[in-house]
Amino acid sequence: MHCYDCAQDGRQETAGIGACTRCGLFTCADHAQILRTTVQRPIGVIPMTSVRPARRLVCGACRTAEAS
Ligand SMILES: [Zn+2]
Ligand SMILES: [Zn+2]
Repeated sequence: MHCYDCAQDGRQETAGIGACTRCGLFTCADHAQILRTTVQRPIGVIPMTSVRPARRLVCGACRTAEAS
């Protein structure tokens, strides 16, 4: 799979590293942002937050939209 943003710029051959968790489009290391996120996990009725952060991959466009 190739990076969608690179393809839009006319670079068809850039290898994607993964799919954006928001829009689902493939993105490369240059266009992706890896964010740290906590995971909520209920223990009985009490929500527990994970001690170690999980990862979330978003593309540049979705990151910009989330931050603006
Ligand atoms: Zn790219
Ligand atoms: Zn996206």
